Amino acid sequence: MKIKDILSQKPTLSFEFFPPKTEAGIPAVQRVIERLEGFHPDFVSVTYGAGGGTSRFTEKIITHVRHQTSLEAMAHVACAAQTRDDVHQVLVRLERAGIENIIALRGDPPRGEKTFVPASGGFAHATDLIEHVKRNFDFGIAAACYPEGHVESPDLESDIEYAKMKVDLGADFLITQLYYDNRYFFDFLDRARQVGIAAPILPGLLPIVSASQIMRIAELSGATIPDDLRSKLERHAEDDRATRAVGIEHTTNQVRELWSAGVEGIHFYVLNRSYSVAKILTNTGLSGR
Ligand code: FAD
Repeated sequence: MKIKDILSQKPTLSFEFFPPKTEAGIPAVQRVIERLEGFHPDFVSVTYGAGGGTSRFTEKIITHVRHQTSLEAMAHVACAAQTRDDVHQVLVRLERAGIENIIALRGDPPRGEKTFVPASGGFAHATDLIEHVKRNFDFGIAAACYPEGHVESPDLESDIEYAKMKVDLGADFLITQLYYDNRYFFDFLDRARQVGIAAPILPGLLPIVSASQIMRIAELSGATIPDDLRSKLERHAEDDRATRAVGIEHTTNQVRELWSAGVEGIHFYVLNRSYSVAKILTNTGLSGR
């Protein structure tokens, strides 16, 4: 089923996982997905390694989800460091495997580099990939958006224009980059509607599990850590259990506020760890939806 058809009926819950570095790690990822199946997410997604190196594992896991679980599946497809034909072949295999939904992404520059340079003969932007997918396939398409602006964007205005372009070219809905203050999301939603983006926009939430990890992710993604959250994290910097509890409390509050504001869905960056998401869904009463 296309995810846009689920979104037209109800607000969705969705979970994002990432592929392992080696084939031997695949069963462990499948077990985490199966552990969270009981929370009845409306779809789950599996990310795509930079440069396509682990794309076979993404394909394998998402095909398992599609055929061996009760869950709807969405494959991430990123075009960094690959030719158009490389990416086309991935899409052909996904289609043959019965996958109906993808999220079309550009990908990040290689670690340590700030500027993205497309591969020779590769797609330069998610917009190019969306056009290609629309022209050649029948997938439901999602795309990324950035409540605080993408790290390479000169300003929020041009950034949101590119989000609009993604929808105009065929993205059915958008998922946001992670963020920790709902005001960024609500402000983005207002601005998106003002510029004419009518498609559903799902907030993406990452429950914090370790202080060092979140500082690194925040720096890479440009997410602001609010002062009160930062001081709680600093107080527990050496204690991962206490940090995880701070993360669960913070994301629980974000979910309560978003859900009562009537969002069109919530997307969890699960990072292959089920504990925090399970707690948050139980805390918010969303576990028994
Ligand atoms: P783009 O939309 O191409 O945007 C990149 C930059 O270019 C932005 O500054 C934008 O404003 C600008 N821009 C956009 N379109 C144009 C255009 N047509 N002309 C000129 N400028 C333009 N990365 C992975 O490698 N694998 C994943 O599985 C993955 N999953 C993700 C899932 C979500 C929900 C999100 C939010 C991000 C994900 N990422 C993933 C990270 C993503 O690849 C990076 O954020 C990347 O830097 C930008 O990807 P994009 O698709 O938004 O790119």
